[in-house]
Amino acid sequence: MTVMEEGANNPEEIRYISTRGGEAPVTASMAILKGLSDQGGLYVPESFPHLDVPLERLAQMTYKELAFVVMRLFLGDFTDEELKTCIDRAYDKKFDTPNIAEMKQADGAWYLELFHGATIAFKDMALSVLPHLMTTAARKNQVDKEIVILTATSGDTGKAALAGFANVPGTRIVVFYPKNGVSPIQEKQMVTQQGENTCVIGIRGNFDDAQTAVKRMFGDSGLAETIGNKGFCFSSANSINIGRLIPQVVYYVYAYACLLAKGQIRVGEEINFAVPTGNFGNILAAYYAKRIGLPVKKLICASNENKVLFDFFRTGIYDRRRDFILTSSPSMDILISSNLERLIYFAAGNDPKVCADLMRSLSEQGVYEITSEMRQRTEGFYGNYLSEEETFRTIGRVYHNASYVIDTHTAVGAGVYEKYKEETKDETTTVIASTASPYKFTRSVMKALGEETGDEDDFALADRLEKISGVKIPAAVDSIRTAPVLHKQVVDIDDMPGAVLAFLGITA
Ligand SMILES: *Cc1c(COP(=O)(O)O)cnc(C)c1O
Repeated sequence: MTVMEEGANNPEEIRYISTRGGEAPVTASMAILKGLSDQGGLYVPESFPHLDVPLERLAQMTYKELAFVVMRLFLGDFTDEELKTCIDRAYDKKFDTPNIAEMKQADGAWYLELFHGATIAFKDMALSVLPHLMTTAARKNQVDKEIVILTATSGDTGKAALAGFANVPGTRIVVFYPKNGVSPIQEKQMVTQQGENTCVIGIRGNFDDAQTAVKRMFGDSGLAETIGNKGFCFSSANSINIGRLIPQVVYYVYAYACLLAKGQIRVGEEINFAVPTGNFGNILAAYYAKRIGLPVKKLICASNENKVLFDFFRTGIYDRRRDFILTSSPSMDILISSNLERLIYFAAGNDPKVCADLMRSLSEQGVYEITSEMRQRTEGFYGNYLSEEETFRTIGRVYHNASYVIDTHTAVGAGVYEKYKEETKDETTTVIASTASPYKFTRSVMKALGEETGDEDDFALADRLEKISGVKIPAAVDSIRTAPVLHKQVVDIDDMPGAVLAFLGITA
């Protein structure tokens, strides 16, 4: 791999600072290990590195080669060897295409398919490499304990984390889910998870109960000591960890490289990205790609009916005091977009005091407002949203015009892009982040296509969708039809710590 060797001079070591200040800069590996800063702030790079390989060269690289070129800029204290090993272990047969991500042209836009991993949604892109970054970071910082990931899930993240951490030496993972609060397919995906180091537990309670109990375990110093004495430490695979953000920067560079390779754009020509958004992690990665020198014009932030971000970009006021709406794009049903804090920090001219004050206002009053000067610094973003009806219509429209079936989340991105084009007349080449396979949200997608969904189960619906879309049912769906249930434990909220200790083989 000559490409990798050429880029192998170590960049100046990037360090990370907290968006809320009050802490000395830390190395990348330390930021990954800690997740959140001591003050509850998020880690951001002290300054942005720059792509040091010419764009035309990027067009000739594989996904893994690009991952190396991009990630090494941000992970300054990882050796080239360490980083290559992490990338090799992540982007392998777990993905159903050797390209890892695919680009499809349909109905006037490019779709960047980020759903070819183990759980057919984009979170696999980062969660497949995070476990390796974490264990490497632990080794580099002389943490000799086994890492125990604790997660509460409302369905999707749990499975993606399980798939990422399964069989990774030096880690264990425990996932709690509300026994009666996830879809049958989501439950089946989790309870059939293989890997000696995995543990999936249903709880009698809802997602908030599970989440609160997990947070309590993270904060329980007695519990930390008990497991510490036996050689374990807790960690989380939370989406605010830079170990999840940085791997996401890669596929925006990859999309640009693909367009260059296909002769769709000239070197240096700007493109737009439209991103279906919830927690603001995915679109923030696109912003980071722009900051390291990728030619990007607009970042189109697409929301569903939980349109906090649309209101924010229109008014400069972030106001979470509103009803939470359940939509057909559940992974975007979010009122607090945690990763927005990183943009706020930059908009505040890298002033941690301003950022901390705004975040305090959000947690105490549920609202904050940024100044017009700060708003100017967010002008690279365009926000809009889609109603449920518009979302369904968009799925129908893209299928009708291009025989291409997209999922409900991706549809929000596609529909908002149409609104953007209408409003601005901007004809710049645009890439829409396709965040989930239509087979992940089969029932909604079939409804949008005008199909009866009656009392058929999701597998039967998937069989029909296969005929309509002409796209083979992904192995991730097909394999769980007959897979044996390996995790049967159900516990009360109060018994969650006991269940963790039992899994670790620790008797109280
Ligand atoms: C998580 C998720 C999103 C939202 O991504 P954020 O990084 O939270 O903005 C969109 N679509 C799908 C399918 C997701 O799983």
